[in-house]
Amino acid sequence: MNESPRLIDILKSGKRHLSFEVFPPKTAETWESVDAAARQVAALGPSFLSVTYGAGGGTSRYTVSLAEELSRDYALPVLVHLTCISSTHETVRAMLEELKEKGMHNIMALRGDIPKDREVPGQYRYAADLIHEIRSFDSAFTIGGACYPEGHADAAGLREDIRHLKEKVDAGCDFLTTQMFFENETYFRYLYLLRDAGIDVPILPGIMPITGRSQVERSAALSGAVIPPRLRALADAFGSSPAAMAQAGIAYATEQIVDLFAGGVTHVHVYSMNKPAVAAAILNNLRDLLENEA
Ligand code: FAD
Repeated sequence: MNESPRLIDILKSGKRHLSFEVFPPKTAETWESVDAAARQVAALGPSFLSVTYGAGGGTSRYTVSLAEELSRDYALPVLVHLTCISSTHETVRAMLEELKEKGMHNIMALRGDIPKDREVPGQYRYAADLIHEIRSFDSAFTIGGACYPEGHADAAGLREDIRHLKEKVDAGCDFLTTQMFFENETYFRYLYLLRDAGIDVPILPGIMPITGRSQVERSAALSGAVIPPRLRALADAFGSSPAAMAQAGIAYATEQIVDLFAGGVTHVHVYSMNKPAVAAAILNNLRDLLENEA
């Protein structure tokens, strides 16, 4: 059995780290190509790798298989995403049993988006319900949760969202990872509000490198993050050349990360999206900043 190290120990080490996110294939036919890309990202040696869970849980098999394989072959801590809104207690319980048996003790516990025009079992309402369940199942799990520096789309406002976030942390969340944002000021202001609300777990900034013009609008629509004028200007200037846009987007993300490190952040999570070249370029740009005491 392969024991994945506890993420919380890495997050509290006081050293600067980068982690990467990969997603599983949607179908068996795409397993090979997706797996190859995820392997290349893993081979870069991030502090940990997170493996997302397909919306609605339809690809849960692939999430677990990919996570297990990457953790085993690259001796990496892997964070397995798990959503609950389309699940039953029975399926969640079975998943927890399986993860425990396979030595995968790091879970990103999420509600998931409420599917439009689809029946949901109705056994879970919020991520906090799932976190309670994981905690009572086994206290050895390290549990992550999601947070939203610009507010979650379903919340009436940022203050209300933070009140619910506090309930989620009190339910047993060990750390939080933010939705993408493109101005660091947004993160630092949010961090202040969270500390003021008594939320004292590590808050990992999530950075999305924008390496294609169409990604600008897509990311904004998906996340609700504000696109600052200088990022829009960059897409307007370089968007017609894929290579130039990739280089500019990597430089933008690198600069965001450097500024976060300079502001005292020790761990940044990169939405590397199965793009090994992008992940490698960012890692390379930051080589001398990483693994040092902050
Ligand atoms: P919750 O924490 O439950 O919050 C959802 C909403 O409910 C918020 O508006 C909150 O304010 C509100 N709320 C919470 N508690 C209460 C309460 N008691 N009363 C009233 N309102 C309440 N999706 C996937 O499908 N797969 C993934 O792998 C995935 N990974 C993600 C990783 C990160 C870092 C992030 C930021 C998001 C990720 N998502 C993923 C998207 C996520 O599933 C959606 O944003 C989803 O809509 C909310 O999930 P949550 O866990 O944040 O929900």
